[in-house]
Amino acid sequence: MIIIIGGGASGLIAAVAAGNAVGGGNVKIIEKNDRVGRKLLATGSGRCNLTNINAALGGYTGEDAGFSAAALRKFGPKDTMEFFEGLGLVTRIEEHGRVYPKCNLASAVLDVLRNEISRLNIEIIHAEASRLSFERSAFSIYCTDKRKIMGRSVIVSAGGRAAPVFGSNGGGYNLLIQMGHELNDVYPALVQLRTNFADIKTLNGVRVNAGIGLRRNGRVVAYQEGELQFTNYGVSGIPALNVSGAAGQGSDIVIDFSPDMDKEALLRLLEKRVVNLRCRRADEFFTGFFHKAVGRLLLKYAGVPPGLPVSALKDYLNKLVGSIKSFHMPLSGVLGFAEAQVTGGGIRTDGFNPRTMESVIQKGLYAAGEVLDIYGPCGGYNLQWAWSSGHLAGVSAAGYINDL
Ligand SMILES: Cc1cc2nc3c(=O)[nH]c(=O)nc-3n(C[C@H](O)[C@H](O)[C@H](O)COP(=O)(O)OP(=O)(O)OC[C@H]3O[C@@H](n4cnc5c(N)ncnc54)[C@H](O)[C@@H]3O)c2cc1C
Repeated sequence: MIIIIGGGASGLIAAVAAGNAVGGGNVKIIEKNDRVGRKLLATGSGRCNLTNINAALGGYTGEDAGFSAAALRKFGPKDTMEFFEGLGLVTRIEEHGRVYPKCNLASAVLDVLRNEISRLNIEIIHAEASRLSFERSAFSIYCTDKRKIMGRSVIVSAGGRAAPVFGSNGGGYNLLIQMGHELNDVYPALVQLRTNFADIKTLNGVRVNAGIGLRRNGRVVAYQEGELQFTNYGVSGIPALNVSGAAGQGSDIVIDFSPDMDKEALLRLLEKRVVNLRCRRADEFFTGFFHKAVGRLLLKYAGVPPGLPVSALKDYLNKLVGSIKSFHMPLSGVLGFAEAQVTGGGIRTDGFNPRTMESVIQKGLYAAGEVLDIYGPCGGYNLQWAWSSGHLAGVSAAGYINDL
């Protein structure tokens, strides 16, 4: 019997892969929620960005990010699309290689997986695993409701600590630690940035296409461009989430409000605007260029006195260019695990064989998904890691059982 602890993305695909190889009657899923795959329903804002065609090239983070390569090679984005197509899900590739179900419904991804689980007759046990041990050639899984479930092979796919409302509360770490595995520090990743910048509230609700970087000791440690969303506490939006993993190393948020123009081109443009708009007031200088709230802030931070005519802005243009290209806000931290999309850090990957996902400490024990110290950027990379590692763990566990 193969026991899969955690019925999220990685556990469900592991169950299907193992069930197809050894028969569904030899596979069981233990899931603490009353339904499997609850987090899947929330992914991609309810649309489920299930993979990214560029994920095959890597782009993952972890103590040893290269650990992910073998699983991605064996079961990559193309295999994922074919796998889901085989289950009846029609997918579509969108901007930046992001793949969604054509029907735009995350529930469709879960439905086709659940249909396959039930076709294979894989049993789902609703219980919370709290202890894992290996005694006399079998694993024993002890649950909080006092049930004991036995298996010859176990896949731990219980996720990390991000978004615990969907079930993943870090319990999977303890199970693997009980088996001798080690945990690297965990932190919220793909999460909103906080600032105590005095004027942040004036930008609340503003969306801009910009660049965002985190800077420490004068060095940019992470940078990305795209749509930023300002909130009353800081910055959200995909680029902000993608740089958030470096937040521990960054002390300043730096925003480039015009990433498609270098300083010289920007200065020439502003000089032209001074001529064209010379009869206006300075507070109208950025109308038609930036969001009003952004324009106001740029003028304030360049020290432009209110009520000045545009014709008098000539002396401020260099300062304005500086503010536009490199607007600083102190970073005061990030939001917590409750808001994070994924967990940074996790169970050390050097305790597992990247070609099989099997533990190097205990034969027959496997891990998959976010419980391990691997995560990727927004855009389908994290589900792809769950599918790749889960599929590989399922196939490998089936091979192990067959060889017994
Ligand atoms: C709001 C949100 C949106 C996201 N959108 C995307 C997206 O569009 N694309 C993308 O690629 N990634 C996205 N992600 C990230 C992605 O969902 C996760 O990386 C992925 O689900 C991880 O899969 P997993 O199987 O490792 O863990 P999980 O999906 O967290 O599943 C773990 C499962 O194990 C169960 N469990 C935990 N502990 C126990 C226990 N002790 N006993 C029994 N069961 C247990 C949990 O209840 C849960 O069902 C998003 C995340 C969030 C929070």
